[in-house]
Amino acid sequence: MTDAAQHLLDVLGPDMVLTDPDRMAGYRWDRANDPGAGTPLAVVRVSSTEDVQTVVRIAAEHRVPVVTRGAGSGLSGGASAVDGGIVLSTERMRAIEVDPATRTCVVEPGLLNAEVKAAVAEHGLWYPPDPSSYEICSIGGNVATNAGGLCCVKYGVTMDYVLGMTVVLADGTAVELGGPRLKDSAGLSMTKLFVGSEGTLGIVTRIVLRLLPAPRPASTLVAMFPSLDDTTNTVCDITAGMRPSTIEFMDSASINAVEDVTHMGLDREAAALLVVQSDEPCGQAATELEAVREICGGHHALEVFVTDDPDEGEAFVAARRMAIPAVEKRGSLLLEDVGVPIPLLGALVQGIADIARERDVEIAVIAHAGDGNTHPLIVVDPTDPDQAERAAQAYGEVMTLAIGLGGTITGEHGVGRLKKPWLGDYLGPDALALNRRIKDALDPDGILNPGAMF
Ligand SMILES: Cc1cc2nc3c(=O)[nH]c(=O)nc-3n(C[C@H](O)[C@H](O)[C@H](O)COP(=O)(O)OP(=O)(O)OC[C@H]3O[C@@H](n4cnc5c(N)ncnc54)[C@H](O)[C@@H]3O)c2cc1C
Repeated sequence: MTDAAQHLLDVLGPDMVLTDPDRMAGYRWDRANDPGAGTPLAVVRVSSTEDVQTVVRIAAEHRVPVVTRGAGSGLSGGASAVDGGIVLSTERMRAIEVDPATRTCVVEPGLLNAEVKAAVAEHGLWYPPDPSSYEICSIGGNVATNAGGLCCVKYGVTMDYVLGMTVVLADGTAVELGGPRLKDSAGLSMTKLFVGSEGTLGIVTRIVLRLLPAPRPASTLVAMFPSLDDTTNTVCDITAGMRPSTIEFMDSASINAVEDVTHMGLDREAAALLVVQSDEPCGQAATELEAVREICGGHHALEVFVTDDPDEGEAFVAARRMAIPAVEKRGSLLLEDVGVPIPLLGALVQGIADIARERDVEIAVIAHAGDGNTHPLIVVDPTDPDQAERAAQAYGEVMTLAIGLGGTITGEHGVGRLKKPWLGDYLGPDALALNRRIKDALDPDGILNPGAMF
């Protein structure tokens, strides 16, 4: 056993500190299944900010890396374990306090997104950001990746709801940032700096979230299209003048993968479909979706279905949410997260189809289309090295395509380890150097999630 592992065991005890390789195995990978994930010297299941400070101080003394892990649902290898490092799991940090008077809650990072939603709903309140993985991802992971989701097109992403936090820095100091105040211009925007920092600048141990009044029931429109261009042009026309609460896209490959699992009667022949929701009050939802229906008709929609029954609508949203696991049944996935300005969504989707054809690989595309944020899912046959090589080439080409269109390599999943080679191309040398200066200032010994992002 290493000195650092023994030190952790001596101070924190065997209930909190795991060193048995079998028990640590489940903490080595996130959902990206990064082949480069290492073997940690210990997994520490902390319960408090003080525990986190202790772990970081021991790590700093022994100069060993600390990879923070929420629920491990990440799709970019951000929580991959590092050889000889510590995995710090927040799974036991699950407290939440809701304050209806300030319409905020204070939550520990290990609570799942769905559990936060349920706890605040008891007070008639709503935490909007809704990644498709909301039942299996932690709120700390959401903050660390600046997670998005389906309703973010109208209600904003995680960043828009984080008012404050406690964050443990690389020297073990616990800093309080922000608080339950809706406006705050004092000092630099430090809270925002840590949102999306993927555990590379500090470890978030307490989060103050802004809440909204309970959501209104949504009406839902589902439209099938004969071509990708018709579908993306519809998205552009909708977003030019309206703000529905959901605008989700599935291409033919995703429709067929979901239909294989659900048998819910989706049109297997359609080139793509859109799921659009409106939660406007007082009958306005019907008016908004009628306008969407007209736009769909103008772009040759094959079929348009509208319902104000929340359960019926939720079935289509659930179908969209299950697209990743459904496509995963066809092989391992290289999962992308590229986004572009909305008018270029069509060029991105067409370009991805071209790459799939040229590389002879299957790429299913789903998208939070109203945000211009797509998830190309490249299906890989790991038993076929030639195909795996072509898939890897396609993975890079999709990111290069997005950058060429003025887009981003990641809209919501983060850079992690898998997209790191493309970060410089996206940011450019000056912005990359600025990122590195901030990292070096906050973590001079590079112990916080080394290998991720930078
Ligand atoms: C089927 C499926 C669908 C998904 N859909 C979406 C979607 O719609 N939108 C979306 O945004 N994402 C989506 N994701 C990706 C994933 O769920 C999100 O990135 C989520 O925010 C990760 O949370 P986690 O708790 O699992 O974090 P982890 O995977 O454990 O960690 C993610 C990153 O955050 C860091 N981290 C975790 N906790 C902390 C902390 N307390 N302090 C500092 N750093 C920390 C880790 O080091 C790592 O870099 C999906 C994933 C799956 C499997």
